[in-house]
Amino acid sequence: MGSSVQWKHLGAGVVILLAVVALRTLPSEGGQPLRHDHTKEWGYVKVAHRPASELERRLGEIASVVARRPVQVRCEDFSAGKALEPGGVVQFNGEQSADFTRIRPDVCTALLQFMRRPAGTAACARAGSCDSRVLRSADALTVLAHESSHLEGIRNEAVAQCYAMQAVPRIARALGASTEDGHALASLEYAFAYPRMPPAYRSPDCRSGGALDRSPRADWP
Ligand SMILES: [Zn+2]
Repeated sequence: MGSSVQWKHLGAGVVILLAVVALRTLPSEGGQPLRHDHTKEWGYVKVAHRPASELERRLGEIASVVARRPVQVRCEDFSAGKALEPGGVVQFNGEQSADFTRIRPDVCTALLQFMRRPAGTAACARAGSCDSRVLRSADALTVLAHESSHLEGIRNEAVAQCYAMQAVPRIARALGASTEDGHALASLEYAFAYPRMPPAYRSPDCRSGGALDRSPRADWP
């Protein structure tokens, strides 16, 4: 009795298995994929698909100056999935960069806070007493500059990071800081954050007068 029940179950299993094999081996129509996912195409991936907020529009204007072409910024969490560089991301298709960057929301918040209080870095640096808010500002400005360098078409991380620190004074000024404060922010970033970055982001040529010094006659960085 018991054995006949087992056979019934086994028989049902065989029928299901055969049905699955038959489905898998059925040719799809014309050999084409059943669905075409346009969201995977570069033409779709390279542009932003959400209107910019007021802050994003302002940051996009600044990124466009650094990138030397019209680009956009979106403040979005992009951490789902694989490990990416901290702070922001720019997609590449070969050597071609996308037309926008995604910046982590907390970095955008730090940039907004900097816009509200852009002064004081040169003074605190002279006194040797800059608080964490100032270091956070320097980091956030550098992230925006770094992703803007990628948008300029620079894929190499060490080159992008070195150019980024040199763009910090210009970005800081565009967001309301004085020339002196802008240079102080870049100097803080170079002195304290840069040596702690992963090796891929550093280069011995990133120094005053080095091969990656974009304006050897100006103050470094
Ligand atoms: Zn990068």
